[in-house]
Amino acid sequence: MMLIDNYGRKITYLRVSVTDRCNLRCIYCRPEGYSIPRLSHEEILRYEEILRIVKLAVKLGIRKIRITGGEPFVRKDIDMFIKELSKISGIEELTITTNGVLLTKYLSILKIAGVKTLNISLDTLRSARYKIITGKDEFFKVWTAIHEAKKMGFRAIKINVVLLKGINEDEVMNFAELSIKEPFYIRFIEHMPICSGNDDLFLVSGKDVREFLKKRFELSVLNEDKSTFYPGPARYYKIKGAKGVLGFIDPMTSHFCNMCNRIRLTADGHLKPCLLSSHQIDIKSPLRAGANDEDIKALIIKAVKEKPMFHKNNNIGRAMSTIGG
Ligand code: SAM
Repeated sequence: MMLIDNYGRKITYLRVSVTDRCNLRCIYCRPEGYSIPRLSHEEILRYEEILRIVKLAVKLGIRKIRITGGEPFVRKDIDMFIKELSKISGIEELTITTNGVLLTKYLSILKIAGVKTLNISLDTLRSARYKIITGKDEFFKVWTAIHEAKKMGFRAIKINVVLLKGINEDEVMNFAELSIKEPFYIRFIEHMPICSGNDDLFLVSGKDVREFLKKRFELSVLNEDKSTFYPGPARYYKIKGAKGVLGFIDPMTSHFCNMCNRIRLTADGHLKPCLLSSHQIDIKSPLRAGANDEDIKALIIKAVKEKPMFHKNNNIGRAMSTIGG
């Protein structure tokens, strides 16, 4: 089976948000004072419900699953869920996006589950600034987790950095130097004004960062041909002699919708065909009303068929933590 949308894109990737809760309050995602209604226990999909949806999605052609949130590790019994997920045959890649604060404890569970790449969000290399950006003094826990993961031999440790004008853009050089010393994938992500206004005061464009770096380093492009070795929306570069690589994900200044291969399942049980559109399909109500497998599959196909060609409106009025970044 294969899931193909109306524009010929093959959809093989499902991002599953297991919770809307997070242990951080990043200034651009869940700022203090910005009220995000907390989902009640009942509103959140139960693990058995998620597993059923994933199994059916895999039957339809999904091959890659990413667990995300909120912060996935704050949900109770996440280890049990990861274990169950890893037993589903047909999943070729199981991965996770985390802020890393609680990661160390779960590294061996992830290894056993066959997770090979980890996406860890870290917007600064300075502990005092980490507290300013995230509201919590947890920098060293994340730093320890990254180094433990390296020791344990995860194939790719991706450090996701959202660059924010006037906040951390002065650390581009430090991150670049980290990519020289360590075998990490450091990925600069453009800020998306998804729950603020459309005037993005935070935006630092990937192009500006590349130009800045090109003046200082010899950068070679690794995946201009979109080779399968570096799949996905990131463009990868390497500084001459570096152990790691630098990636750029530029959702704001250069659309990569033509190569989008994903849909999302939110913690409150909606399928989202596109991150940057408010359109979503309720899968939880039919599921709880006794829908059979064919009905559920039809909803997954509907979500794929309703993927827009391009994202238009970026202000979708919903914090990333409630969708699943
Ligand atoms: N808690 C996990 C984490 O921190 O990686 C997973 C969820 S978090 C919402 C996923 C990613 O979305 C993080 O890397 C975060 O920096 C990013 N993010 C949140 N709001 C964003 C925004 N407005 N623009 C760009 N990235 C954003």
